[in-house]
Amino acid sequence: MGPNTSVSSCYRYGDTSAGSSMTQNGITIREAQNIIKQIYFKRDKARGVNGTTLHLVEEVGELIRALRTGNRDKLSEEISDVLAWLLSVASLVEIDVEEAFISRYNFSCPKCHSSPCKCPKV
Ligand SMILES: [Zn+2]
Repeated sequence: MGPNTSVSSCYRYGDTSAGSSMTQNGITIREAQNIIKQIYFKRDKARGVNGTTLHLVEEVGELIRALRTGNRDKLSEEISDVLAWLLSVASLVEIDVEEAFISRYNFSCPKCHSSPCKCPKV
């Protein structure tokens, strides 16, 4: 299989024409987690949860730098990287992010149970 076939053949939605894998209809959080797992899980597992979490923190630092520059391409890249590393950490500790997110943020703030949030400003 080529570099893209393993993922795109499993994550093709709606229009099945070549190259439409993720962009046509978007993907769910679970699908994103599975994509990252397919690409990196072996390496993440070998590195371990502490080392992988350290990479996540490093990416957050890069995101902060990108916010300062205001470069939208860089910002888009760093936001994607932070999400990818977060999904990696979640997979290592066997948390289904979609399930966890829905359970915690079920259309409202987990603390005040309102949307928009009515908690005191922090
Ligand atoms: Zn709140």
